[in-house]
Amino acid sequence: MSVYELEKSPGEWCLHCRVGVGCSIYDNRPTECRQFLCGYLALSDLSEEWKPSRSKIIITTDVIRNDITFHVDPSCPDAWRREPFYSYMKQRAERVASQRGRVLVIVGWRSIVIFPDRDVDLGTSATTSLS
Ligand code: SF4
Repeated sequence: MSVYELEKSPGEWCLHCRVGVGCSIYDNRPTECRQFLCGYLALSDLSEEWKPSRSKIIITTDVIRNDITFHVDPSCPDAWRREPFYSYMKQRAERVASQRGRVLVIVGWRSIVIFPDRDVDLGTSATTSLS
């Protein structure tokens, strides 16, 4: 995911990340990092399989716009197509369809909108990925 305060683009490691250890500036991490709410912890209907280290997917939600976004590890670009992930996305798409919300999959700079009856690949776009 992108971190504006660090000018970090999606799909790139954060300079402060110590792989397998954690954040090297945790006590002084940017506000954006402090305010991040992981969907795996926030959504009550997700199984253990959704744990980001297993699923390779990080979830964010926008409760005002009824949006849910699945940020997929670019080194596992098809992880979102596996089960139970894909079926869950389709269920969410059904749920938000009447609420003007959207279900979005982001893989690096690529964006895919998930509708109940189809998936629409928007291709690669910096503005879409950073929104
Ligand atoms: S929490 Fe730490 S490692 Fe993670 S993005 Fe923020 S600064 Fe980087």
